[in-house]
Amino acid sequence: MEVRIIKGTNQVGGCIAEITSSKGTKIIIDYGDNLDDEKQIRIPGLTKEDDLKPSYDAVIITHSHKDHIGCASSIKKDIPIYVNKEGMAIHNNLCYFTREYKKILREKDNTIKYFAFEKSFFIKDIKVTPFIADHSSYNSAMLLIEADSQKILHTGDYRNHGKKGCLFNKILKEIGKVDLLITEGTTIGNSKRNFKKEKDLTIDFQELNKYNQIYVMCSSTNIDRIVNLYKNFSKTHLFIMDMCMNSTTSLLNKIPNSNTFRNVYTFVSPNQKKIEEPYGRYIKHTKKVIYELPFNEKFVVSIKQSMKDYLKDNKKNIKNACLIYSMWDGYIKDNWPDPKLREFKNYLVNELHMDYFPIHTSGHASLEAIKTLDKIVNPRKVIIIHTEKSKEAIVIEKKLFKDRLLEFSDGDLINLK
Ligand SMILES: [Zn+2]
Ligand SMILES: [Zn+2]
Repeated sequence: MEVRIIKGTNQVGGCIAEITSSKGTKIIIDYGDNLDDEKQIRIPGLTKEDDLKPSYDAVIITHSHKDHIGCASSIKKDIPIYVNKEGMAIHNNLCYFTREYKKILREKDNTIKYFAFEKSFFIKDIKVTPFIADHSSYNSAMLLIEADSQKILHTGDYRNHGKKGCLFNKILKEIGKVDLLITEGTTIGNSKRNFKKEKDLTIDFQELNKYNQIYVMCSSTNIDRIVNLYKNFSKTHLFIMDMCMNSTTSLLNKIPNSNTFRNVYTFVSPNQKKIEEPYGRYIKHTKKVIYELPFNEKFVVSIKQSMKDYLKDNKKNIKNACLIYSMWDGYIKDNWPDPKLREFKNYLVNELHMDYFPIHTSGHASLEAIKTLDKIVNPRKVIIIHTEKSKEAIVIEKKLFKDRLLEFSDGDLINLK
């Protein structure tokens, strides 16, 4: 097989890998947004933007984070897109809330094929087997690609300290030795990242039970975290979700949501209700919607920036309150280009006097996880993508993989002999 990293040798997000078999079958893995909002690269014969004949046989999406799926709706209808069904539903739901309607994947506009874990499928002579990966996005996949008597493992984004981390070694043993490993390297060289086990966050959450009002900033798509919060607080506090989070969890089986869980509510603030889209669409189908927070009771609530006016108007009711910031801290650092989230968090802490607790763990692989993976799948060659490739990272990568590490730039063709 031949491999080309079209994008991703020196950037996190927006990675695109191309794999070609000796018979000329061509596939793309992931086609998402760049994190820095720069327009995604145009690939001839891939998207509806040109009239060229389709130059690919399929696109496979590893998971529903926007840097992996965000541009998939622009792919030509003749090129099938393989995706996990729940992951796609989560992506589409989020697009309504961010009003990125063009990014919604629809069967009428694209050829969608759903894959199941550990069920192989063929794209002509290329065999693909998706395995479940432990990541902060629901139903993320690692992909085993087989053709020409060679094996490639494309990890997508992964870790082994989350809820599904217990499956990590077992799955890798099933995959066995590979010729080429394409692994994410997001955190290599960034030793400050937090790799606490997801289950250990429970201990941090338990300490906060003493607060009457617990406000949480958490991604609506981080299902493991939502379940973790629910398990900790729902026995002592009313569990209230914002509409975006509730409409996400409602898509999934047995995940807390106000339609099927007794003590779960959905909160819509008056100013959110005024915004017709997407709230009108959801309110009709959501049970136990409340328009005021029950300030006299103990509650935990997920909050969004659009609730700021409501919280401001209720300043006098906010007492014995804490704020849990449960997302990547990069979004609230001074150098993050969009200051809105940082300003919102600062307002809650400084003006509404919420006690502040950052409680989070990375969605990405620690160096230990990468070493474990390397040991089990024992690759002949290694490519690292989804990395900023700092000087520190280069030193660590070379020390770990030595001459197995392939060094090249975006767009170079690599023949896997
Ligand atoms: Zn990613
Ligand atoms: Zn991801």
